[in-house]
Amino acid sequence: MLASIFTAVTLLAATASAITIPAHVARNVSEVLKRTPGQVVTQCTVPNTVALTFDDGPWVYLYDISKALIAADAKGTFFFNGNNYDCIYSADQAKRVKYAYDKGHQVASHTWSHRHLPTLTWDQIHEEMWLVEDAIEKITGAYPAMVRPPYGEYNDMVVDAARVRGQTITTWDFDSLDWSDSADDVKKAYTDLANRRPSNALALNHEVYEQSAHNILPHAISVLKAAGYKLVTLAECIGQSPYMRVGSPKARDDSWTCANRPNYQL
Ligand SMILES: [Zn+2]
Repeated sequence: MLASIFTAVTLLAATASAITIPAHVARNVSEVLKRTPGQVVTQCTVPNTVALTFDDGPWVYLYDISKALIAADAKGTFFFNGNNYDCIYSADQAKRVKYAYDKGHQVASHTWSHRHLPTLTWDQIHEEMWLVEDAIEKITGAYPAMVRPPYGEYNDMVVDAARVRGQTITTWDFDSLDWSDSADDVKKAYTDLANRRPSNALALNHEVYEQSAHNILPHAISVLKAAGYKLVTLAECIGQSPYMRVGSPKARDDSWTCANRPNYQL
């Protein structure tokens, strides 16, 4: 018995040492091992942090969003769909997903095709979750541990599916309304947030709008940093691990496709 345990540990150690893990991920995995499958996270817990999160990509503004964050010594969190604005496996989008991960931002699941999860069956919920978890792992090597249900909608079955999958459900406590309001209104909302100065904030934004990337984000970074916040990933602002496991990216093969899989629909 002892010998087999020793063998298993040795094998694990050998496997771990064979994998090249980016420094920022190694830090996250080694220092923050806590995970809470099935929990619904609605706010940050670490004082003086703001998590800026970006839904519905990957899309064309990702590079600009990342550059604005990195220039401010900040990290963001991208909740990716598999098949929304574009197919996550297209050459351009897969490159963006990998870029976000390599820059140290958190990559997470926003489900495959942005359905209203409470309207789906148990099997459909799992398919929506699994397809994009698998895509993110193939592209980056990291298996996400957090899912944001589209529209923030979930019921007991969705929570149970997340728990079974080892996923933490995450929503937000500050909706920037960048999807519906003018840039000026959204910027004012960020200014008001900074002036209210809560202990922390979990902010919802969207990666897919030009105004969010080029107009609202620079303002949000400016006022939040001036208020003394550290701009971190969602995992960091709740002190949990962003990933279930971290390995190497896979080579592109025939499974990298959106053909015969659910499409975005309202
Ligand atoms: Zn969404």
